[in-house]
Amino acid sequence: MNTDNIRIVLVNTSHPGNIGGVARAMKNMGLTRLYLVAPRDYPNEQAEWRAVSAKDILDTAIIVPTLEDAITDCQFVVGTSARERRIPWPLLDARQCAERMAQASSQEQVAVLFGREDRGLTNEELRVCNLHLNIPTSGAYSSLNLAMAVQIVAYELHMLRSSMELPVNELEQWDSPFASQGNMEHFYQHLEETLIDVEFLDPTAPRQLMSRLRRLYTRVRLDEMELNILRGVLSETQKWVKRARKGS
Ligand code: SAH
Repeated sequence: MNTDNIRIVLVNTSHPGNIGGVARAMKNMGLTRLYLVAPRDYPNEQAEWRAVSAKDILDTAIIVPTLEDAITDCQFVVGTSARERRIPWPLLDARQCAERMAQASSQEQVAVLFGREDRGLTNEELRVCNLHLNIPTSGAYSSLNLAMAVQIVAYELHMLRSSMELPVNELEQWDSPFASQGNMEHFYQHLEETLIDVEFLDPTAPRQLMSRLRRLYTRVRLDEMELNILRGVLSETQKWVKRARKGS
């Protein structure tokens, strides 16, 4: 995912406070590119108040007269809507849609359109969209505040990005490399021998014991250090078994 390629587009927003709220929601979730299509009352200090520490998002926002100006260079356009429209369109919730936007953003310019507080996006505006996004709500009241709708979409993108980054961070920050497949195989052999030595595993009736232990260790994902500790425990156990056998 490349969030630099994802822009939030607000169409004809009435309340400048909402524009500030959107800027804050975006900055909280790591988005930076805001387009304002013909805002009705902007600039306005209410926007600054609501943005709090996200004034930089307002300062770099691009104000354009028409929707077309905001999205001509975009290859993937998502329209958000609280209502089902007469003509069915490919429709996803915010989580599903975040995945599609993330995919597209690695190669393409992505725009997410948000409509007017009073009447949303027009059918014509929704028709230029590749996908429609609906945030599921209670049936009693489906229309969210504009900034809150942006917050939810931006949050889903943020969560997706963090989950994509996790394996890299996990590897980068870990103090010991993860065990190689070859070393894990040596470990399983050693474990099996030791379990036979202590008569926990009966080689004539092994059942599923080794498979279950393999599943346990693959689920945990041992690092080399942990693997060495376990190998040490096994070696010591084998020594004690030998000594006990000699003694008896
Ligand atoms: N009355 C309008 C709602 C406008 S709310 C309508 O029926 O469409 C302002 C904007 O917030 C909407 O245009 C949309 O961009 C966004 N929004 C509000 N609720 C939403 C929801 N449940 N799902 C997706 N977007 C929503």
